[in-house]
Amino acid sequence: MMNSNRFVQSGEGGAATTAPLLGLDIGGTKIAGALVALTDTQANISHQASVPTDAGRGGVAVLATILDFAKQLLATAREEGIEPRGIAVSSAGVIDPVTGSIASATDTMPGWAGQPLGPALRAHLSLPVAVLNDVHGHGLGEVAYGAGRGAQNALIFAVGTGLGGAAIVGGKLVSGANGVSGHFGHLYHETAHGLTCSCGRTSHIETAASGSGAARLYAARQIESGTLTDEEIAYAEKVAGSITGVVENIPEEHYEVREDCSRPALVRGGFELKQLADQGDEFARQIFIDGAFALGQTIAGLANSFDPDVIILSGSLTHVGAYWWNALHKGFMDQAMNLIGQTLVIEGSLDSSAPLIGAAVYFDSIMNDDEPAHTATQNAT
Ligand SMILES: [Zn+2]
Repeated sequence: MMNSNRFVQSGEGGAATTAPLLGLDIGGTKIAGALVALTDTQANISHQASVPTDAGRGGVAVLATILDFAKQLLATAREEGIEPRGIAVSSAGVIDPVTGSIASATDTMPGWAGQPLGPALRAHLSLPVAVLNDVHGHGLGEVAYGAGRGAQNALIFAVGTGLGGAAIVGGKLVSGANGVSGHFGHLYHETAHGLTCSCGRTSHIETAASGSGAARLYAARQIESGTLTDEEIAYAEKVAGSITGVVENIPEEHYEVREDCSRPALVRGGFELKQLADQGDEFARQIFIDGAFALGQTIAGLANSFDPDVIILSGSLTHVGAYWWNALHKGFMDQAMNLIGQTLVIEGSLDSSAPLIGAAVYFDSIMNDDEPAHTATQNAT
């Protein structure tokens, strides 16, 4: 279907033709792949495909699926006469910056920690491989080709089931000593007070401002509301104290709207909470408002520390509604120092393509003397 000629682009000033990279984006729900071709001005994505991660099978099985999937994509490309010049990967988990292996991962991908993702791809496909964290990839993508294009200093926040981030300083991704940098969800916030975080600590902003956090905050506030039965309180305490906001084996009736009250005892994540809020439930809406305000305050604290050119937010929570953004801006202005209050706070523009594009940018940056790809290309003439 795709015209492969689009990848044979003769650059100006004698630059080499740009063969695409095979891009992979590995998440807890699905493994996405595509061919990614970068030019000075554009990131072209084609041949998109995906398979379910089925993370519950464990890390070894997930890695085997990734290797098969990548082989298939590569074979399809080669059938069309396209020879990818390498493999660029964004993955959930903390990535060992030297080896490309998974240094640690959360319970959403059991057994993912320790998997030799980079080395296994290299060995099986005989191509150069670069691996980075998916949120880091998201940030690099948005700064190179998305909403933050041209920014030298940027903070990126991915507000979905969890709350992740990335810092770009002087045009480069800050990955830190262990690849952990950017875990902005794990800053203290009083709105999250007492709630268990996905990292095992308590009172982190992620437990108030993310989708899974909103479900926990909902459960905690339902307990305080005095409207729950003893049985419901027992379940709500389990949910509020969980690290995911979802507890198995809770009877379905507790997720259904009660007769004596306009809302259910519990919700499973931000999606169900948004449905309630969209139906006009003020209690649900207030949880999003308080979470967004708290997140705005946290972002301002980081902006006061980093002084970025731009702040970019992506993820499902950014689609909650205008009231979510209003609360976020209010929280931001509440804590932003003079000058910092003028910082652009905007929505990302690349959506799910961002980690694939960012991985390709990262691939070129580590293959080109550590220069970001677009900078290196511009300087090449
Ligand atoms: Zn945490």
